[in-house]
Amino acid sequence: MRLAQFPRVALGHFPTPLEPMDRLSEMLGGPRLWVKRDDCTGLSSGGNKTRKLEYLMADAQQKGADTIITQGATQSNHARQTAAAAAKLGMGCHILLEDRTGSNDDNYIMNGNVLLDRLHGATVSKRSGGTDMNAEMERLADSLQQDGKTPYIIPGGGSNPIGALGYVNCARELVEQASGMGLKIDALVHATGSSGTQAGLVAGLAAIESDIHLLGIGVRAPQEKQEGMVFDLAQKTAAFLGMPDDIARSSVRANCDYVGPGYGLPTDGMIAALKLLAQTEGLLFDPVYSGKGLDGLIDLTRKGYFDGMSNVVFTHTGGSAALFGYPETFDLPGYSS
Ligand SMILES: *Cc1c(COP(=O)(O)O)cnc(C)c1O
Repeated sequence: MRLAQFPRVALGHFPTPLEPMDRLSEMLGGPRLWVKRDDCTGLSSGGNKTRKLEYLMADAQQKGADTIITQGATQSNHARQTAAAAAKLGMGCHILLEDRTGSNDDNYIMNGNVLLDRLHGATVSKRSGGTDMNAEMERLADSLQQDGKTPYIIPGGGSNPIGALGYVNCARELVEQASGMGLKIDALVHATGSSGTQAGLVAGLAAIESDIHLLGIGVRAPQEKQEGMVFDLAQKTAAFLGMPDDIARSSVRANCDYVGPGYGLPTDGMIAALKLLAQTEGLLFDPVYSGKGLDGLIDLTRKGYFDGMSNVVFTHTGGSAALFGYPETFDLPGYSS
């Protein structure tokens, strides 16, 4: 594997911390739970897309781009981090937001990540749910080209083999960091959506011949589809890296039991998990991704999924900026007198 051959632009703070969650571990009584703080990547309140963008934005620069186009759901963390990266590198940024939830709540459509997209100077436009967002991005690229711009399209979530390199590198970073702490990681759990994070980790763990049990907690697609997407992208990423061996299908695991009614729609388990971590560990998670991932981590720990394991790491993929798009979800007490 020759990761260093790929251009990369510095956008984040790495390595991110690896910290124990001892109050949570004690409460659940299973393995010791740790958190890999990819919510602390540093770019515009952080998150997992920053690792991907270090490779994607370098590729855009190499191709002479002056304008970035990307897409996501209304409260997309990927869009927000892309807007920040484009600002830092002096590029224009056009964001297409797909209304996947149908919510007209003012906070949902204007606050949280949407506020930050605009603050970073991106042009934001909306599309209705079910729109072919890739076709919309192509169309926008054509019209920008006619205006003399050189656009570069980043797919939703930054999930392609270039973006996934960020998580190939994270696998190496995490294993080195743990070994420096004298820690043996048994399992690694995280929220999986557009699949670049998990695909990169699958390829990265395979490249260093790690036997860490990797589990994605789905936030949108059913299990078969989610695992298929991850496997496909992990294979493409391994080929892109020139890895000699095939990716084992058995190394791709997604549990999609915590999606609830749909993408971006709150569940009771997410609400309980998010409040629990806010109040036992002082950590913030988000309603769409990391909160549902956490619900999976907690529920599976209670059900004994990790029995016999000593150390389980949850990769915190970030997203707390989205909390401000969901202020009514948590039914919190008001001021006391
Ligand atoms: C995008 C995102 C994910 C999912 O990562 P993918 O690479 O799209 O699978 C998880 N958590 C947060 C907070 C995200 O923004």
